[in-house]
Amino acid sequence: QVPLKPGRSLMDWIRLTKSGKDLTGLKGRLVEVTEDELAKHNKKEDCWICIRGFVYNVTPYMEYHPGGEDELMKAAGTDGTDLFDQVHRWVNYESMLKECLVGRMAVKPVAAPKAQCYFIDCLLFVGMVPEKKVQASSAKDLTPRLKFKYVLICPKKLYFFLLLYFLFYSYDWFQTDCLITVVIYTKQKDMNAELVIVDCQDKRLRGEIIMDDYSYLVEVDLDHAVSEEVAVNIAEKIGKVEIILKKKDNIHWKMLGQPWGCHNTFIKRTDRELFYRKCRLVSKTEVTHDTKLFCLMLPKGTHLRVPTGQHVYLKQNITGTEAVKPYTPVLPFLPLDFQEASHHDGVHIYLMIKIYSCGLFTQALDHLQIGDYISVSNPEGNFKKSQVQALEDLILLAGGTGFTPMVKLLNFALTEVSCLRTVKLIFFNKTEDDILWRNQLEQLALKDERFEVQFILSQPTKNWVGKQGKISSSLLSEFVKRSRKDSKVLVCICGPTPFTEQGIQCLKDLGYSQEEIHAFTA
Ligand code: FAD
Ligand code: NAP
Repeated sequence: QVPLKPGRSLMDWIRLTKSGKDLTGLKGRLVEVTEDELAKHNKKEDCWICIRGFVYNVTPYMEYHPGGEDELMKAAGTDGTDLFDQVHRWVNYESMLKECLVGRMAVKPVAAPKAQCYFIDCLLFVGMVPEKKVQASSAKDLTPRLKFKYVLICPKKLYFFLLLYFLFYSYDWFQTDCLITVVIYTKQKDMNAELVIVDCQDKRLRGEIIMDDYSYLVEVDLDHAVSEEVAVNIAEKIGKVEIILKKKDNIHWKMLGQPWGCHNTFIKRTDRELFYRKCRLVSKTEVTHDTKLFCLMLPKGTHLRVPTGQHVYLKQNITGTEAVKPYTPVLPFLPLDFQEASHHDGVHIYLMIKIYSCGLFTQALDHLQIGDYISVSNPEGNFKKSQVQALEDLILLAGGTGFTPMVKLLNFALTEVSCLRTVKLIFFNKTEDDILWRNQLEQLALKDERFEVQFILSQPTKNWVGKQGKISSSLLSEFVKRSRKDSKVLVCICGPTPFTEQGIQCLKDLGYSQEEIHAFTA
């Protein structure tokens, strides 16, 4: 992010888009844009960018772009889809830039569309299978054929295909008088609840299975109505996932339903559209003078567990424009006797959110009433629990609400990592009043001798007897230490972007390797 000029906030941009001003310079006309034409509009004062086949005149948006003009200019006069997806594929540009739409590309742009699907119907099963299980032989027969077809279509993605070939996801369904069971065979040995995301609402069933950076999706409009509740059974050892739906009427279904575009596909997670479901706000409690704990309830038809270290996106309509921001779920409190299961009821998502007095999104969040709904996305993030599994020392550097990813991480480390000797949280805040869950952290430090917490204030009052300062090598060298020479250590860092960047540099200066540092970012 770069500092924006006054009057150039997102709210100001929304106001401008609603002012009726001609932002494309085409007086409301939509045109077909050739690649040659697009290339001509490559200057700040005349800048067109193509995203997913649609061309936008982004010149009026330049000064409002939170990432700065130079970032936007990297895609000037070209197809910026890949660049956009790398940086913030979750931003709802269609809504943000709708008044800047120039038209469509006349010739399809080279970059892949966002929700590109590598259809594997022929490898698996075409369309919806009837009641009977599909014979294993049909899959076997089709495998070599598809391999050939694949090579013809897209040789560069051979790795993806081989992965698919070896793993071989498939699904099936069957019924009784009152139940429909959809079974997904993943052949993934360490299947668990965090890898299965199911949503069933208004006759639409969506079941996504995560496998590292890829996901398998079953998505259909069900043939008949089902009741709201959905049960999910996971046979962890054999990787079988059952989604059990209750029929509303006890009638015999001839088919499961109509497939959606990406039904039965196994593709990179980043190539899927972010999926949102509406969650109800059930409580909002104060954590500090400006930070609140929001408790959201998932719909009955949703099965979703946000993995440790991952975030979700919240989406709300702010004066007619869809705004999206990431937030990292926490636990309802810091458990003193760490027990994994009891704090994950599978129904609630807790978010600790700082309300900024000039913040566009958090102001709107703060105005939500109990019972109101807000859209919550599937989880994202590049943290993997395996990074912690064999650790001896875990060091957490948090700045302000950068504390949020540390909450579940603390719980996971102290509960499940048996070789862990020390967990140290170094928590940077401006003032004493800003410290989140201070009491709970101090209690935990008393209770568990492996855990230690250090509060550092950048703007303390005279009464503060604790440590004072900003993140720096000298300060970190005092607190960031291994329990023994060459111990296996991970330092996790999260906070304002400059804080994180400076922290990483300091850690490197102190001799920590890239692999020993994890930064939480979007
Ligand atoms: P904004 O409108 O973006 O403004 C925030 C503050 O910054 C305001 O004071 C505003 O005046 C100032 N400001 C905005 N833009 C600029 C600028 N360009 N130059 C100078 N000042 C500016 N936050 C949490 O509270 N809890 C979480 O769990 C959490 N998790 C996150 C996870 C990830 C992966 C990321 C990337 C961020 C997370 N955040 C979290 C931050 C969150 O996404 C929002 O950025 C935050 O809530 C502010 O949103 P806002 O729209 O209210 O504020
Ligand atoms: P804050 O109160 O403004 O700052 C927290 C601490 O960080 C303070 O001690 C502050 O000191 C210091 N700090 C701020 N800017 C700094 C800089 N440029 N250099 C060095 N130290 C700096 O923090 P906040 O408002 O809670 O913001 C938290 C941030 O964390 C947000 O930007 C949010 O996006 C981010 N976050 C990210 C994730 C993620 O997963 N990526 C998750 C949660 C939150 P000063 O007195 O110097 O300001």
